[in-house]
Amino acid sequence: MIIVMKRDATPDDVTGVVERLRSIGCEAHVSEGQIQTVIGAIGDRDVISRLPWEAMPGVERAVPVVRPFKFVSRDFQPTDTVVDVGGVQVGGERFVVVAGPCAVESRDQLFRTAEAVVEAGARILRGDAFKPRTSPYSFQGLGEQGLQLLAEVRDKLGIPFVAEVLDPRDVGLVSSYADMLRVGTRNMANFTLLQEVGRQPKPVQLKRGFTATIEEWLNAAEYIYKEGNHQIVLVERGIRTFETAARNTLDITAVPVLKRLSHLPVMVDPSHSGGRRDLVLPLARAGVAAGADGIMVDVHPAPDTALVDGAQALLPDDFAELMDQVARLAAAMNRPL
Ligand code: PEP
Ligand code: MN
Repeated sequence: MIIVMKRDATPDDVTGVVERLRSIGCEAHVSEGQIQTVIGAIGDRDVISRLPWEAMPGVERAVPVVRPFKFVSRDFQPTDTVVDVGGVQVGGERFVVVAGPCAVESRDQLFRTAEAVVEAGARILRGDAFKPRTSPYSFQGLGEQGLQLLAEVRDKLGIPFVAEVLDPRDVGLVSSYADMLRVGTRNMANFTLLQEVGRQPKPVQLKRGFTATIEEWLNAAEYIYKEGNHQIVLVERGIRTFETAARNTLDITAVPVLKRLSHLPVMVDPSHSGGRRDLVLPLARAGVAAGADGIMVDVHPAPDTALVDGAQALLPDDFAELMDQVARLAAAMNRPL
């Protein structure tokens, strides 16, 4: 149940509802919006719905939750969440481009890429130190050394970075370096990992599982939110369908669907969805036009030598061209870069 307070409800009215919920053995999650306060009631549905909430002082209405996810839904919070990534706002007025190498391979590779993407206007750097690889014999990432290089680049170039975390045991380590943690597609339903990233203070980028429905994805976000971390950005990165022409099928429909169902910011990853360099630009444009809050793009100074995902990485010049087109489209959507 979501209990929506009146605009002129007093702090005492809010406390009254919270205490009433606790008295029946339920938890209360208070969210103070700019306009009004809403209280999420967690506990036995039947017990909660039996009480006359709308008769209590300061209560405007009590809305039963019909969806399995609650806190990440727009019913709970009608206004958009804005996520702060080391000073960069995602989900606010400006469109955000995240760019960088799929994996950190060396200092030279990382610096060259980071300088190029900053120059072209990217505002968050990507680069992974832990890579989820289909084969156990493939390059697995540089680990902590990769995180140190990323932190060095951030400090030199003044750009925050996002990095993937694969294992609940590494959450503290990645969180101590990165400005944002990413849970990748293969881990979207790793509930222990979701809880762990929900208990640390850095914002989280949650990619869609490649076989997950939108509802399953929002439930994954709910796991993070429920632990206390409300700074979550959803990333559509393509799903597995019967189509084999591209690595994955970018589900562009997910963008407007999520915008209706949830208050969380949404990004599109045109690199991992298409899996091919020639598809990155058109899929990026589709993301902007569909109303995403940002995109995340793989860039590499020498894709033919890349240890991971070279086929989809853009060269710095191609990325600059993409930025130019994205800037013009985003401006047409009233989202300046
Ligand atoms: C990535 O962004 O580098 C990545 C591994 O993506 P995904 O989890 O979407 O495959
Ligand atoms: Mn990749």
